[in-house]
Order: sequence, then C-alpha cells, then structure tokens
Amino acid sequence: MAKDHYDIAVAGAGASGLMAAYAAAGGGRSVVVLEKNDVPAKKIYATGNGRCNFLNCEAAPDSYLSRGSDAESFVSRTFGQAGPEELLDVFETMGLMYSEEEDGRMYPRSGQAKAVASALVRSAEGAGAEIICGFDVVSAEKKGGRFVLRAGDGRTVTAGRLILAMGGKAGIRFGSDGRGYKIAQSLGHSVEKPVPALVPLLCAEDLSPVAGVRCKGFVSFLKISEEGSSLLAFDSFGEIQFTKDSLSGICVMDVSRNFVIEEGASYRAVCDILWEYEQSELVQVLRSRREAFSDQGAYMLLESVLADKLASYVLGRAGIDPEGPMKDVTDARLSSAAQLCKRLTFTVTGTKGWPDAQTTAGGVRLSQADPGTMESTICEGLYLCGETLDVDGPCGGYNLTWAFASGYAAGKAAGE
Ligand SMILES: Cc1cc2nc3c(=O)[nH]c(=O)nc-3n(C[C@H](O)[C@H](O)[C@H](O)COP(=O)(O)OP(=O)(O)OC[C@H]3O[C@@H](n4cnc5c(N)ncnc54)[C@H](O)[C@@H]3O)c2cc1C
Repeated sequence: MAKDHYDIAVAGAGASGLMAAYAAAGGGRSVVVLEKNDVPAKKIYATGNGRCNFLNCEAAPDSYLSRGSDAESFVSRTFGQAGPEELLDVFETMGLMYSEEEDGRMYPRSGQAKAVASALVRSAEGAGAEIICGFDVVSAEKKGGRFVLRAGDGRTVTAGRLILAMGGKAGIRFGSDGRGYKIAQSLGHSVEKPVPALVPLLCAEDLSPVAGVRCKGFVSFLKISEEGSSLLAFDSFGEIQFTKDSLSGICVMDVSRNFVIEEGASYRAVCDILWEYEQSELVQVLRSRREAFSDQGAYMLLESVLADKLASYVLGRAGIDPEGPMKDVTDARLSSAAQLCKRLTFTVTGTKGWPDAQTTAGGVRLSQADPGTMESTICEGLYLCGETLDVDGPCGGYNLTWAFASGYAAGKAAGE
C-alpha cells in the first residue's frame, strides 16, 4: 500500500465508487478506492446478461422509487449535477463507444460489459486514483476530523473525506452484502429496511413444464387477506419469463419490490397472455380452430398462438390432452382454456431473495443526504451514493444510471 492517508477514500470499487473516484481525482486530490474483491467492478461484468445496460437515456427523476422518501425530488437534484445526457458525455470522454436499443437502453457498442468496467477503471486510475483490492472494509470511524477505515485483516487507511459506495444487499456474490448500511448506521444514519428488488417471484405451482418460456402479457398482482382480495400493484405489461419455480421477466421484476409478504395474507399473480382478445372473442377463435382442425390433435387449438410448452401447459390445466383428438375437446374445456389464457393464475409465496435480486429497495434515508452533493447531513465529509441510498429504479439501465449519477455528484463535491 503506497500511503496510509489520502484526501479522499472511496469504499467500494463498483459502479458508483469508480465513477466517484474518477470525478474526485479529476479535482487533483489524492484518492484511494478500497475494494474487498480481488478485482474492481466485478458486478458490472455480470450486468445486462454480460452486455451491461449501463444507462437509460430516457431515465427521469420520476422513474425512481424510494421506500421511505420522495425519490423524484431527490433524484431530480442529483440529475441536475449529472443526468443521463451528461453521463453519456462522461463515458464518451472515457472512450466508451455505445449504441442505443429500444426504450432508451444504452449498451457498449461491443456488446461486452467488460468495456464499461475497463473504461471506469482506466479512467479512475488515469485521473490519479489508486485502487486497492482485497481490502474488506469492516468499519469506518470519524476521529479528529479524519475517517479511519479498518480492513478485516487489521490494515487501516485514513482519509479527510469518505465516499461510501459499498452498494446494497443485492447480488451478494459480487461483493455487496449490506455492510455499507451498517457503516452508515455506525456513523449516525438511519436505514429504511432493505428488501430485494428486481427479483423473480417464487410460485407454489410446479413450473418446470414451462421453464425457459418467455411471452408477453399483462400481470396483475393480488393480495388476498382474510377480508378479501385487493390489487397489490397495478397491472404490469411486458415480458414474462418462467423458470421451474418462479416468474420473472421485466414486468414481474419491476413490481417485485412490493412483495413484502405479510403473515395471514396470500398473493396471486394473474397473467393475461392473450391480451389482444376479450375472453368471449377468444372463445370464438378457439371454436373456429376446433372446427378448422377437427381431424387433428387438440394441440392445434393453441399451436402458433403460444410457445409450444406454454400451450401444452394451458391445455393441460384446462383438462385437455394436447395429443388427444380435437373432437374430444368439449365446450366447457375450450372455455376453460380461453379463461386460462386470460387469467393464468399462480400463487406467489415470496421473492427469490438477495442472491437473485438485481437491486435493493431501501437504504440510507434520503433526508440524511444532500441530493446535489450527496454529502451526509449527519456526518460532515461523508458522501453516500448508489444503492447505499434509498433509491431504486426499474429494469432497463436505470439502476446503473443512478449509481453513476450519484457517484459522479459525490466525487465532484468531495473533490472540490
Ligand atoms: C446480475 C445483475 C445484473 C444487473 N444488470 C443491470 C443492468 O444491466 N443495468 C442496470 O442499470 N443495473 C443492473 N444491475 C443493478 C446494478 O448493477 C446495481 O444497481 C449497481 O451496480 C449499484 O451500484 P453501486 O455502486 O451502488 O454498488 P455495486 O456496484 O454493488 O458496488 C459496490 C462495491 O462495493 C464493494 N464492497 C462491498 N462491501 C465492501 C467492503 N466491506 N469493503 C470493500 N468493498 C466492499 C463490492 O464488492 C462492490 O464492488 C444488475 C445487478 C445484478 C446483480
């Protein structure tokens, strides 16, 4: 380790920490980044299925949510320092070539997440920041106007200012395990209870027959209490993905933060996988197909309408043998198949939890940080950014946009 005192220490070499280090070191201060993994930016390599959806150029303050505060007004001040447009300029300066896909999703042109990780590490180091890996920050104290950061193996680093960029609790295998919250608490902050977000929803039904299927549809989420049912989250439209034990896909993941399971209540996901039709129309469509393909197998009812596995699953739940003769399909079973296409219902028992979550809902209370500088209002010289704060966004590059925007604002302010 070259030195034991720095102007600025950044705890965590993830998305927000590397961006903060780049912005802070650009101001000419001595900056160290302390990372517990053996390499920086480990999570970035895994983002966007290895392609890293690093930004959403349509991200707006009202795209974001918070568990305990008003995210929109907070994010709007942070984006005032560096919003999506300014961040794209920053990445261009870093030498990253990118391309835009549907709904404002930005990816590196090469389609490799490595390009984003390399751009951040190269630029932070190029600006003068030192990155120390294998430094597991276990505590941070403020003593005599300096922050003292202690590693699990006993090493210490001191710094005049500290940027806390240790992420949330999601994606534990990439390094973030909630330690950042504990450190923030030890420095006087309150934390809104973190819950897994952008996470698949576990179902009681055996979904192995449809595992791997993706389809588009509307999903309504119902909470059924002793008094009756109520809508938990509004209908969500988009891709639904099935795994052997869970529902995922963008429209499911985006609402998953709401699944804080209460005792005594049960939860349902109701999928409309043929939303183009009213149920009565769908019955007519299926009747016409039954007539047109009367000499074929019952599978022809939904062949080319739904993916094969999903079609067989729906027919099976309606009591129709897909391999059986079409003439055996009764009116009642045909109506039941139509109803299932409009209301394919699953019992949600919870989320798949932290290992499968892409982000955290909850975190350090927003009233305890300045949204323009990210400096703590409780502990002078401490800056908070990324998932450590109580801000979360939907799928589509919004969470990295937030990590980079808040990291940039924190680094700029700390470096001044
Ligand atoms: C599989 C997966 C795919 C994702 N895909 C996308 C996507 O395509 N687009 C998108 O916008 N978002 C995506 N996300 C979410 C996004 O990656 C995170 O929201 C974002 O990385 C948060 O940035 P951060 O800097 O706050 O935390 P992180 O990126 O998690 O960085 C925190 C860093 O701190 C380090 N650290 C933690 N504890 C310590 C400690 N005690 N001492 C030292 N260092 C420590 C960690 O090792 C880590 O390097 C994805 C997440 C996952 C898990």
